[in-house]
Amino acid sequence: MLRSRGSKTATTEQETPRDVSLSEAEWRSRLTPAQYRVLRRAGTEPAFSGQYVDCHTDGTYRCAACGAELFSSDAKFDSGSGWPSFTEPAVAGAVELHRDRSAGTERTEVVCRACGSHLGHVFDDGPRPTGQRYCINSCSLSIDPEQR
Ligand code: FE
Repeated sequence: MLRSRGSKTATTEQETPRDVSLSEAEWRSRLTPAQYRVLRRAGTEPAFSGQYVDCHTDGTYRCAACGAELFSSDAKFDSGSGWPSFTEPAVAGAVELHRDRSAGTERTEVVCRACGSHLGHVFDDGPRPTGQRYCINSCSLSIDPEQR
């Protein structure tokens, strides 16, 4: 019997339960075309094109799709990459990491845990203390400025 093959398929197709789960049609109507392409189709905005590359505002960066708290401005640094870069997520479990073998190389994709939307990639060439560089598309984010 091919029982093992069957169960392997079932595991692969199992979806992570999400706090926010919308149809692709609903996402399309909520997001701008550029956001939809990045967040729901794992696209990448052009380097140095996003609104948060040089942003130094204090606050919380939330998921542009679902509003979940993702990154703090305290963890933002100037990577020179052309994308907003962070050393760590704001809250443990805010993001999920997936192996990404697209683009002819192996990278680690960063996804919003709450809604499953694509945020960017994480690399291990970041600064101290974590050594991580979360390279995130501006259009996947929405800043919530800190109230002073
Ligand atoms: Fe989200």
